[in-house]
Order: sequence, then structure tokens, then C-alpha cells
Amino acid sequence: MMSHTFRILRVSGIDVRVHWTWLILAFLVASSLATGWFPVMAPGQTTNTYWSGAVFCSAGLFFSIVVHEFCHAIVGRAFKMPVEKITLFLFGGVAHLDDEPPNARSEFWMAIAGPAASVVLAFGFYGLQILATQNGSPLMWQAGLNYLASINIVVAAFNMLPGFPMDGGRVLRSLLWGIKGNMLWATKVASNVGQIFGGVLIALGLITLFRGAAISGIWGFTLGFLVIGFARASFIQLLVKKELQGRPAVNFMDPLPVTCRPETSVSDLMRGVLNRSETANGEAVGPVIGENCEYVGCANLRAAQKLPEREWSQHQVREIIQPLESDHLIDPDTDAEKALTQMTKKGYRELLIIRGNRLVGVLTQAALSRYLSLRQNQAYSS
Ligand SMILES: [Zn+2]
Repeated sequence: MMSHTFRILRVSGIDVRVHWTWLILAFLVASSLATGWFPVMAPGQTTNTYWSGAVFCSAGLFFSIVVHEFCHAIVGRAFKMPVEKITLFLFGGVAHLDDEPPNARSEFWMAIAGPAASVVLAFGFYGLQILATQNGSPLMWQAGLNYLASINIVVAAFNMLPGFPMDGGRVLRSLLWGIKGNMLWATKVASNVGQIFGGVLIALGLITLFRGAAISGIWGFTLGFLVIGFARASFIQLLVKKELQGRPAVNFMDPLPVTCRPETSVSDLMRGVLNRSETANGEAVGPVIGENCEYVGCANLRAAQKLPEREWSQHQVREIIQPLESDHLIDPDTDAEKALTQMTKKGYRELLIIRGNRLVGVLTQAALSRYLSLRQNQAYSS
């Protein structure tokens, strides 16, 4: 979703990028200010004046969110967690962090920095509003500053709700992590709380929608789904990274795949239990090995089925062998995390592990998920 962004600023090595959906948020904010907030707070002005004030306040909101994200980034940098870019989109902003924080303390300070900045900004705008009131400045100015003070409080409060990976969820995770010293468990709990919170947002969105407030309803509803998705994905990503990264595929393989020989008859092939794989276009295949256990290719079972059944005994597997795509074969030392990514990307359920020219085993997605869910349960019960 975050691919269509454009860079608008670069401050001390950090890119500030805007996703096109930010323009929707800016427009929604501006139109609600021009038609709602300003006419109530500063009555008797022209439509042009209201819209100028609204555009000015949208810019103020933009500035506030950039400051919020920058504070995350600066504190992250102080704890040696480099943030290269900040993206603004429909639901606010995000400071991209490539890696997980090294410890609970750094995560806590980095997460709390953004909402703290929003609170400071709120006080700043509130102070300016008091000055404006004392100096008898135009009502439009007072109303605009009042809006910016309030919206920063809303931004701080909203981000502090405990939906991981939002700021509040990160603070929650850092506290749990600090107490128990188990990052995976802390992430699991924070991710669950995040998903519950996402569910609540969806429900509130629906209620709002049925009460007739279409835009806020859809906004809450969509944000809820996004929060649930993020919460789930963040935990799974972490689990995969912690458990599989840096470990060779050979550790997780099934070492004795059932194979056949080129001279096996097709009738024996069809009777036997062959280790079945699937090619990129979904055809069932099974590994074939030669006389010296060298990997020859895969027997295409669909091709075998196309032969008349009564002729199966007269045909040999060598007639229906096909090579597999190179990304279906991996080296035993391939990183297990990379192998899983490769499988997920290509839609393969397994990869053949080849050392030299020999088939040494099969790495299946099922085996990896079993291992991951076992580790997840251990993390949960420890
Ligand atoms: Zn934040």
C-alpha cells in the first residue's frame, strides 16, 4: 500500500514522503474545518476566509505529524536504530524502522517520543491561543490555534491506545518485555491486544456508519482492519525472523523423501507413495533419482494420468520427467527464512534440497509452520 509515495522533504538524512492517500486526509480535515469548526468558532466570516483558515490548519496538522514522527526517528537514532524515512498517509504517519529495537528500554523511549512531542505541540499551540486571545487577535486565529492544540491531543491520545504496532502498543510491548525479558512473548501479547483493539475499531466504525456518519464510519472500519492486519503481521514477521533467520534450510528438512527411478514403470509410480510437489502451474510432480542417487528431475503425474491406464505398465517414468524451475531447488545452506520467503512468493508448498547433484531432502512449508507454531506456543507459555 505504501508504494505510491513522493518525497517532499529531506531533513538530516531522513526522507519525508507523502502517500497519495494523505491528500484525502488533508481534504477531509480542511472541509470539516471550513464547513464546521470555523463557522461555529468564528461566525460571520466569508467562505473564502473559512477555507484559507482550513488550508492553514491542514498545513499545521501536517507539520504536527511530521514533528511527531521526527521525534520517533531522532530518539531511534540516539539508540542506534536508524530511521531512513517517514511516510504520511491516510491514517497519519509512520517512521520506518528496518529492524526490531535492541532492548525494551530503547523501544519504550522511541515509542513514547512521538506522543510526547504531540503533547508538547498541543501545549505550544494552546499557549499561542492564550496569547492571541489576550492580544485581541481575530477569532479565526484563535479558532485555528485552538484546533491545532486539540488535534495534537487527539493524535497523542489515539496513538497511545494499546494497538501494536501503534505507539501505545509498542509502549505496552516494551513494558511487558522489560518485566519478563521475553520479547517474543511480549510481542504476542501486544499483538493480541492490538487485534482486539482493531476489532473494537471495526465495531465502532460500523455503529458510526449505521448512525449516518459515513466518512468517520468507513475511516474507523478500515483503520480497524489495518490495525488487525499490522498486529498479526508484525508478530509473524518477528517470529519468522527470530526462529528461522541465520539457520540453514537443512535443519528443517524432511531427509527421506520418497523418490522413484527413471526405469520405474508408470503403473508402479501410480501405485506408490511418491513425495509430491507442485510446479508453478500447479502440476503434481515427484522427484526422480538416478543410479548413483543423483537428482534427475521430476515425474509429472498429470502426464502419467493422461496415458491410458491399461498402458501404464508399458511406459517408464523417464518418458514423463520434466526439469523443475531453478527456484524450486535450493542448497542445504540456504537461509531458512529466505527459503520460506521464496516458497510464499512463488506459491510452492516445498523446495527440493540439492547438494552437488544429489537430492538430500525436502523442505516443506508445513514443516516450517509446525515448527513456528510450536515455538510460538512455547513463547506464550514461558
Ligand atoms: Zn507515533
